[in-house]
Amino acid sequence: MLVLGIESSCDETGAALVQDGRYLRSNVVASQIEIHNRYGGVVPEVASRHQLSAIIPVVETALAQASCSWNDIDAIAATYGPGLAGSLLVGLTAGKTLALARHLPFLGVNHLEAHLYANWLRPVTSSPLPATEDGGGYEEGDPLFPLICLVVSGAHSEIVLVRDHGDYQLLGRTRDDAAGEALDKVARVLGLGYPGGPAIQRMAQQAEDTYVQQHSTVKKARNVYRLPRAWLRGTYDFSFSGVKTAMLHLAEGATETPQTVEAGKPSIQHSRYTRMGEQAAQDGAPDVALLASGFQEAIVDVLSVKTRMAAQEHHVKQVILAGGVAANVSLRARLQQELQPLGIRLSYPPIDFCTDNAAMIAGAAFFHLRLGERHTMDLDVQPGLSLPFRK
Ligand code: ATP
Ligand code: MG
Ligand code: FE
Repeated sequence: MLVLGIESSCDETGAALVQDGRYLRSNVVASQIEIHNRYGGVVPEVASRHQLSAIIPVVETALAQASCSWNDIDAIAATYGPGLAGSLLVGLTAGKTLALARHLPFLGVNHLEAHLYANWLRPVTSSPLPATEDGGGYEEGDPLFPLICLVVSGAHSEIVLVRDHGDYQLLGRTRDDAAGEALDKVARVLGLGYPGGPAIQRMAQQAEDTYVQQHSTVKKARNVYRLPRAWLRGTYDFSFSGVKTAMLHLAEGATETPQTVEAGKPSIQHSRYTRMGEQAAQDGAPDVALLASGFQEAIVDVLSVKTRMAAQEHHVKQVILAGGVAANVSLRARLQQELQPLGIRLSYPPIDFCTDNAAMIAGAAFFHLRLGERHTMDLDVQPGLSLPFRK
């Protein structure tokens, strides 16, 4: 089954052709990063206007890159939530209209569920593709149920037990900021631009490389600024607002030297967060790269330990990562370290399929379409949609 997927939930416009929920024929993403970078974050009104101008060219390019015509397509799928209402409307309306015009089955897709299904994608564009399978059961390379999924994106941080396709149990979620949101906000105050996750990762890498040369270990670099962790013991919930606030206080010291800090404003000298290591002690103002490293470490630490504990408690053999923060190399490496000794397999999508894309939409759609699920033309956007958890 060849599915055309459309994604427009935020500031990326995507179209992709995916066969049988796994095999990638084309994947096109038009990003507005350059535009929103100017504002330090996504401006909804600006985002939806750009969705509108990008959607048709992006769909046409996806078909051209897959060298396929409308006659080859078996179904059309588009994100209907969660996301920004104005942005969602563009992709959903385009998807429904194209399905109506081409007399094709249509399915609205949950964007978060699609982030999970990015783990089923294989970046294979070579032909001939494997023969179409019957019911969409297990194929070599698919994640194995039951599994634990760590959903870490711009707006969500959740640990989910997935027993089978569509069977989701929420184990824990963030009580305040999502991991991606915290990374984005902190990057903004550190002057690193938008999106924050990749920028923090780059700065952290830089600090760690320098530190390894000068001192000995990476571990030391990550602990020059030892930031607080909210463990919320006995739960799988997260809280990232404390570490974010600690960072904001430290960052004030990073952008202004101690002499220019206004009276009463918290500066690094007054901070209750410990500075360790020779470098921090010598410098007047904190080092932005070392701050980024300490901050990333604090987030990765909590995400990894809690995910490992959930995997142990529920005796799963597989953990998967989903969402933009799954692109983070430190998170991937640390989780691998936690899970490998336990014989638990870790998988994550290729980097380009962690952040928003339409291939994951077409992929997720297949697993519903194969069961005969369809949506009618009156399907509306649902900006606040969550995963369909069992009660
Ligand atoms: P949601 O999926 O919850 O609706 P979203 O679609 O805005 O939110 P995604 O596109 O899945 O979120 O992810 C974007 C987030 O991923 C941003 O917060 C960004 O900073 C973060 N991110 C991207 N790359 C990396 C990276 N290498 N390391 C850490 N974070 C990253
Ligand atoms: Mg995005
Ligand atoms: Fe997303």
